[in-house]
Amino acid sequence: MSVLVRSRVGSLGAAARAVIPCLWRGQCFSSGNEPAERSPATPLLRHLVYKIKSTGPITVAEYMKEVLTNPAKGYYVHRDMLGEKGDFVTSPEISQIFGELLGIWFISEWMATGKSTAFQLVELGPGRGTLVGDVLRVFSQLGSVLKNCDISIHLVEVSQKLSEIQALTLTGEKAPLERSADSPVYMKGLSKSGIPISWYRNLQDVPKGFSFYLAHEFFDVLPVHKFQKTPQGWREVLIDIDPQESDKLRFVLAPCATAAEAFIHRDEVRDHVEVCPEAGVVIQELSQRIAVTGGAALIADYGHDGTKTDTFRGFCGHKLHDVLTAPGTADLTADVDFSYLRRVAQQQVASLGPIKQQTFLKNMGIDVRLKILLDKSHESSVKQHLLQGYDMLMNPKKMGDRFHFFALLPHQRVHGGSHQTEARPPKVSVSPVAGFAELAWH
Ligand code: SAH
Repeated sequence: MSVLVRSRVGSLGAAARAVIPCLWRGQCFSSGNEPAERSPATPLLRHLVYKIKSTGPITVAEYMKEVLTNPAKGYYVHRDMLGEKGDFVTSPEISQIFGELLGIWFISEWMATGKSTAFQLVELGPGRGTLVGDVLRVFSQLGSVLKNCDISIHLVEVSQKLSEIQALTLTGEKAPLERSADSPVYMKGLSKSGIPISWYRNLQDVPKGFSFYLAHEFFDVLPVHKFQKTPQGWREVLIDIDPQESDKLRFVLAPCATAAEAFIHRDEVRDHVEVCPEAGVVIQELSQRIAVTGGAALIADYGHDGTKTDTFRGFCGHKLHDVLTAPGTADLTADVDFSYLRRVAQQQVASLGPIKQQTFLKNMGIDVRLKILLDKSHESSVKQHLLQGYDMLMNPKKMGDRFHFFALLPHQRVHGGSHQTEARPPKVSVSPVAGFAELAWH
């Protein structure tokens, strides 16, 4: 596995950070129907077996929530799962260009919407803080453009371990962090360039105000309910103890209808679906905030437009992992259903996408940025890693086609004038939204 040490490349920055041969989570999908290995009795398995014995089989959503974010033993809470030594790799960890182009996207939207005197950048699930670090570097480089704008950073993170890594990445220990475990703002600090950063566990606790929201590989970890169509109607897939082996879990079907069935669209034609009510709650909150106080949300993830069926899968050490084996030691994920996100948002805001990552990054000028970095770099190993990173992000067989970009914006930003209806087309012409249309370079 080749890993490039960070080195400075070009004016914006840091590194070609290639961890190229690792597994990324959108790579392929499987249901966890592979023959289950013997499940080591992890603390979470013991907890779940106890819970199922006391109250009966649990939903896949409850299982996912416990396994990923249980405050004592959840997969995300106490470990760094990203990169070569972890379980999977993400776009910002592969190439600095990814975060840089997203930084340009926020500045472009800020300019297109009248250069407000202040904005908040809010990231959901910031991982190691690499993405927001790259965005902040762009903000510093374009300081003359943003000079009269008051910027603050707000990170929504449930993982104690990752929040510590984010603080290290972003603050460079410039000033001591303020900690307050019981408060909704559990940590505060200053970025290397002096921008205030606050940490929260819930989006609801982030102050309201003109904001740009960013969610990269966040929605795919939110808990899904799974349903199977049967001659008796939809039946929810539940998780039960295997009657043959008391420390093994297995999938079963609920004997009768369950409440989450309400989330299945009435015109549904698939015979197996995954629904994610928690994603709906987050989209509702984002939409309401954007409709009332302005801004935009940029969501990037692997997913589909209401077409896929069984995408629930696990990852451990860059390999696919049976979802029911050794819970708490592997990542669990399901493809994002963008058609559901769009349906939830549409009353309040306009949505763009999903469009493929390769199209979005191309429209944002990835080729121009790559050329600048290649021209500025003199080491052949750095050039090679920049090219490998580009290939990983853009190649349709790698991340280029599987990852998608989706945006939420105020109706008037997309349709012009006041809220547009089909009967009343827009009168005001609006500038195209970068990434979803080709960006004009001046
Ligand atoms: N965006 C990063 C990390 C993706 S992994 C990247 O692309 O590299 C998912 C991230 O979401 C992790 O930071 C994880 O701790 C966080 N997370 C998972 N569930 C969460 C929840 N319910 N609320 C807030 N953050 C969550």
